Amino acid sequence: MPEAVWFADPPPLRGPRVAVIGAGLAGCATAAHLCRAGFGVSLIDSAAEIAGATSGNRAGLVNPRLTGEPNLDRYYRAAADYFFPYFADLCARAPVPPEYAFDGVDGSKQQDAHTGGWLAPRSFCRAQLSLCSDLHYRLNTTITSIRAVDRGWQLLTQDGALFETDAVVLTQGYRTAPLQIDTHYLRPHAGQVTLVDSAALPRPLARPFSRQRHYGISLPDGVTLCGAVNRRAEAGPPQAQADLQNLAALAAYLGADSPPDSAILGARTGTRATTPDHLPVVGGVPDEDFFASAYAMLHHGKRHRQWPPARYLPGLYILNGLGSHGILGSPFLAHLLVNLMRGNVKQDTRDAIHLLHPARFILRQLRRKPADRKS
Ligand SMILES: Cc1cc2nc3c(=O)[nH]c(=O)nc-3n(C[C@H](O)[C@H](O)[C@H](O)COP(=O)(O)OP(=O)(O)OC[C@H]3O[C@@H](n4cnc5c(N)ncnc54)[C@H](O)[C@@H]3O)c2cc1C
Repeated sequence: MPEAVWFADPPPLRGPRVAVIGAGLAGCATAAHLCRAGFGVSLIDSAAEIAGATSGNRAGLVNPRLTGEPNLDRYYRAAADYFFPYFADLCARAPVPPEYAFDGVDGSKQQDAHTGGWLAPRSFCRAQLSLCSDLHYRLNTTITSIRAVDRGWQLLTQDGALFETDAVVLTQGYRTAPLQIDTHYLRPHAGQVTLVDSAALPRPLARPFSRQRHYGISLPDGVTLCGAVNRRAEAGPPQAQADLQNLAALAAYLGADSPPDSAILGARTGTRATTPDHLPVVGGVPDEDFFASAYAMLHHGKRHRQWPPARYLPGLYILNGLGSHGILGSPFLAHLLVNLMRGNVKQDTRDAIHLLHPARFILRQLRRKPADRKS
C-alpha cells in the first residue's frame, strides 16, 4: 500500500474565485500565487492593513532553520531553494521592497547556495500583491463563520454580511477557533521584538545576527531591532522584562554591557502559530469524520485491509503554522498549495506535500492504540 493513500490529493478547484482569510505573510503569498495562476482573489483581514498582526514587525530575518533534524532540514532547504529565486524575480518585476539586505546572517547555519539577510515583511507582502490583477481587498473585515454551500463556501462577516466564493484558504494564524475547523495541533507562541536607538550601542551591527533564539537587525534609519523572547501563550501587550532580555542578548552578542533603558524606543508583540513537529501545515482541510471512521483500525497496521483514499472538505484549504520563519517559508508554501489546488503537483514537491500535510496529526493519533491516543 503506497503511503500516498493517506495523503491522496484533494480534487482540483471547482471555480475561479478564492477567498483568502488572513492577510499576513501566509495570506499575501497565497493571494499572489493564486493571482499568478489566474484565479480571482478576495483577500480578507480583520486588520485595517495587510500584515497588520504577527507579520507586522518592522523587519525580520530570512534564514533557514537548519538543525540537523532531517525533516526540518528538508523543509527549510526546499523553502530556501524556492525563496531566493522568487525574491530575485519579484525585485525584477515589482516595486522593490525598499528595506532589505541579503548580506548574510551571522551565526546562522545557511545553505551554501544562499545568503540570508533581512527584510521588512509588510513591504514584501505589498510587493507580491502589487503584481496581482484580479485582487479584491476586504480589510477591516472579520469572518465569523464559514459554511459549505452547493458550489463553494459562504462566508459571514462581523457585520452580518454574507458572500460566496468557490474556495477558501485559511491563513489566519493561530486564531482558527471561530471558524470551527479542527486545528487542535496549532499552538500559540508569544514573542516580542524591541526597537533600540542604534546610537546607544557601543558599535553598530555590521550584519544581522542570530544566536540562541535571539537576533538583531540594524535598520537604515538608526534603529536596531532585537528579539525575540518566546513563550508558549498568546501575546499580550509588550512587557518591560522582555525588552530587557532582548537588550541583554543584543549586548552579549556585541560583547558589551547592556545599554541604558532609555535606549529603548518601542516594542511590538505577536503570536506565532506553531505545530508539535515545528513544521507548517499546507493542503486541503481533511474531512475529520471520514478520517476517524475510514482509518479507525489503522493502529492494527497498514496491511490490515484495503484503505480508501483520503477525503477533504471540498474547496477548503489551509496554510498555517509558520512558526518563527514565516518570511522564508510563505512563498514556498503558497507555491505548493496553489499547485495542489490546480491539480498540478510537481513530482519533486511530493515529499514536501506529505511532510506538511494537514492530516498528519490525525494519522499519528489513529496509528496509536485507542487507549494511547491523546485527547
Ligand atoms: C516577535 C516575533 C518575531 C519574529 N521574527 C521573525 C523573523 O525574524 N523572521 C521570520 O521569518 N519570521 C519571524 N516571526 C514569525 C513571523 O512573524 C510569522 O511566521 C508570520 O507572521 C506568520 O504569518 P501568518 O500570515 O501565518 O500569520 P499572521 O501575520 O498572524 O496573519 C494572520 C492574519 O489573519 C487575520 N485574521 C485572523 N482571524 C481572522 C478572521 N476570522 N477574519 C479575518 N482575518 C482574520 C489576522 O488579523 C492576521 O492579519 C516572528 C514572530 C514574532 C512573534
